[in-house]
Amino acid sequence: MSSRRDFLQKVTASAIALPVLNQYSPISFNDMDDQPYDGPILRVAIMGLGSYGTRVAEAMKGCKKAKLTGLISGTPSKVLDWQKKYDIPEKNCYNYENFDQLKDNPDIDAVYVITPNGLHHDEVIRVAKAGKHAICEKPMAINAQQGQEMVDACKAANVKLLVGYRMHLEPKTLEIIKMRNEGEFGKILFFQGLSGFRIGNPNQWRLNKELAGGGAMMDIGIYSINGARYMIGEEPFWVTAQETKNDPVKFKEGVDETIQFQMGFPSGAIASCLSTYSMRNLDRFFLNGEKGFAELLPATGYGPIKGRTNKGELDHPHKTHQTVQMDEMSDIILQGKQPLVPLDGEEGVKDMKIIDAIYKAVETGNKIPLSL
Ligand code: NAD
Repeated sequence: MSSRRDFLQKVTASAIALPVLNQYSPISFNDMDDQPYDGPILRVAIMGLGSYGTRVAEAMKGCKKAKLTGLISGTPSKVLDWQKKYDIPEKNCYNYENFDQLKDNPDIDAVYVITPNGLHHDEVIRVAKAGKHAICEKPMAINAQQGQEMVDACKAANVKLLVGYRMHLEPKTLEIIKMRNEGEFGKILFFQGLSGFRIGNPNQWRLNKELAGGGAMMDIGIYSINGARYMIGEEPFWVTAQETKNDPVKFKEGVDETIQFQMGFPSGAIASCLSTYSMRNLDRFFLNGEKGFAELLPATGYGPIKGRTNKGELDHPHKTHQTVQMDEMSDIILQGKQPLVPLDGEEGVKDMKIIDAIYKAVETGNKIPLSL
């Protein structure tokens, strides 16, 4: 891992001085480590103190613009540990029964929901009704209807909804997107996304249809769906998909083990992707255009991400993804910053619509039209 020092680059005075960050600034998230920051701080409560919640809390120690100030958990012993570790006062700790009382807590601006997928819908809607901004882990819900209801609830409550799409802020990924936008790869023809790992314990929530909403597609295949969209830079208008299930005991009805899927894009580009819980070492994106190519390998892990194009290796320094994400989300929520690739609820709903269509394609064998 690179040290914070590695990220020092020049930053323009204007980037710091701007009162409203309404434009994407490619250098704003990896180069301000030694710059004083006296702008607003996003005060965040984490809901779900599990494995990823722990990673986010640790990463937030490195944030300048976001701070962990609250906890929501069903396990009192974990809350006590975290209170000590992160210096969280008792009055900012809640459980799943009483977190609606957040509405009376002026010390928390946003809640980051990091619980099993099937719980996100109800939890985000309760967060919105408590008048707090919601950050929700991917997949934002277990189908598009739920996702849309979450978007609507946050709009009605006048709070923001963001999805934990940390790759939308990753420097090598953004460099490829910028190169594509500048025409460096020519007309885009093809994207390949490989997303998978071998899942262990058969009793975990990720293999429980009710809590996970599906199987590998919800958890890891979504990276290839989302990646195809931001790498090609268009929205797909059809999808086809085929499922392979070799272990129906571990992967029960409604829990997908391996799905191959293909998507068509209006320009004529196509995507061919694999989502699986049964194969190791699958985390690769490949983009091919008439004039060049880009590869990310690994493409979506916690990093460092490795990237190369027909012009050579990408050498942007690594910084902990979740630290960058929470600082950027602070700017998005508190200062209205527009990221190059959106991380909002509408963006999450698009992926959910594609997942719905992939499951429908598997079930029917048909090519499913998409309108995103
Ligand atoms: P985890 O099992 O480690 O943690 C889940 C937490 O939710 C636990 O603390 C658990 O106690 C709590 N929980 C609350 N109600 C529960 C219930 N009814 N059943 C089971 N657990 C319950 O899972 P995780 O790996 O932290 O994943 C949580 C979410 O974060 C998922 O949506 C996952 O997709 C997402 N995630 C995102 C990334 C990323 O890189 N963006 C990485 C990992 C996980």
